[in-house]
Amino acid sequence: MKTETASFRLVVCTLMVILQMLALRAAGQPWFCRCGSGAVWSGNVVSSHNSQHLLDPYALTHVLHGVALAGLLWLLRGCCTPAWRFALASLLEAAWEILENSPIVIERFRTATISRDYYGDSVINSIGDLGACMAGFLLAERLGLKRSLLLFAIVELLLLFWIRDCLTLNVVMLLSPVEAIRDWQATGLH
Ligand SMILES: [Zn+2]
Repeated sequence: MKTETASFRLVVCTLMVILQMLALRAAGQPWFCRCGSGAVWSGNVVSSHNSQHLLDPYALTHVLHGVALAGLLWLLRGCCTPAWRFALASLLEAAWEILENSPIVIERFRTATISRDYYGDSVINSIGDLGACMAGFLLAERLGLKRSLLLFAIVELLLLFWIRDCLTLNVVMLLSPVEAIRDWQATGLH
């Protein structure tokens, strides 16, 4: 990666983190988990610590956001350099994180998915998700199409076995909830 490209990406990352931080604080989200432990990782997705620490299993779905965005924005390669595609992906992810923490989407998650106790992300978790997405984008750039598709499939399967949830189910359950899936998810997590 050229130095100017690397510094451009760094500036973009910093700007997005600031934008997201301001938007989430304005929406009333807390900086950290209310438990106050300061732990970087939270592994239990049905606990109140989920989406509150820097990283949790759902960070992996955000890595896949990055992989998917790298693939979609690659279609713009004729008019858009890799650095600008990275900037666009970061902007889209930051916008999603802000939308995800709006009252209407939080309510949707609570009623339609297994995230019954979901009150939105803490600021630190949301920044972790943005970082995971950017890492996924950079990873996909290096892996190329075939290996990125393989990575996508492996991570989705891993998440299905691990937490009975994944990016695909996330999207399905958010748009058109299936009761049988929700029951299956709920019974396996206790
Ligand atoms: Zn906690």
